Amino acid sequence: MKISEIFYSLQGEGQLLGVPSVFLRTAHCNLHCRWCDTPYANWQSHIQDLSIEDIYHQLTHFKVKPIVITGGEPYLQPELPQLCELLHATGHHITLETNATLFMPLKAHLISMSPKLANSVPDSTKAAHHQRQRLNPTVIHQFLTHHQCQVKFVVDHPTDLQEINELVHDIPIPKEQVILMPQGQHPAELAQRQHWLAEICKTEQYRYSPRLHITLWGNQPGT
Ligand code: SF4
Repeated sequence: MKISEIFYSLQGEGQLLGVPSVFLRTAHCNLHCRWCDTPYANWQSHIQDLSIEDIYHQLTHFKVKPIVITGGEPYLQPELPQLCELLHATGHHITLETNATLFMPLKAHLISMSPKLANSVPDSTKAAHHQRQRLNPTVIHQFLTHHQCQVKFVVDHPTDLQEINELVHDIPIPKEQVILMPQGQHPAELAQRQHWLAEICKTEQYRYSPRLHITLWGNQPGT
């Protein structure tokens, strides 16, 4: 399995905010978000090819039950179901973070989807590919049908709300599973957006999530 890093930290987003967890960041992504906060997951110098057994031993070394598998995009890794099976059988709580464009059956306790809005389209040669790939309502529906889910949207501007409301209505996504988070790779960028986003969440009755790891440590590998 191609991985970028394994580390121990606090869950920084969503329903399990603040829970001490071991993170497995897989390498590579099929999208090219303009504001991607983990581009290093694609850097060759950060990528290791490890067996499931090696990954399992590194994850369990911390003796912590909650495991968060994130990326990159974890569903690009064909060995993912095998790793989840092993973690599930040994009593770990598995959160899988995904951009919700790819699906395969596997065991997980929480699927943390983050479908990408139009605000994610990069200003580069990757724009057309990203625009075609960034939303897959069929896959989002599959996750919602087969798993316990949360659906996190990264909000860059108040006008993003229209796209969010349309997706929630059209797919449809249960409103209580939706979480809005401010876009920002640094605490100062989050601070610019958190107050108006909090007001939007109050008005529209969406759950708000900060991005605790960025507030605490900035945008750094291993956090
Ligand atoms: S889906 Fe996530 S990992 Fe992939 S480019 Fe977008 S922000 Fe980065």
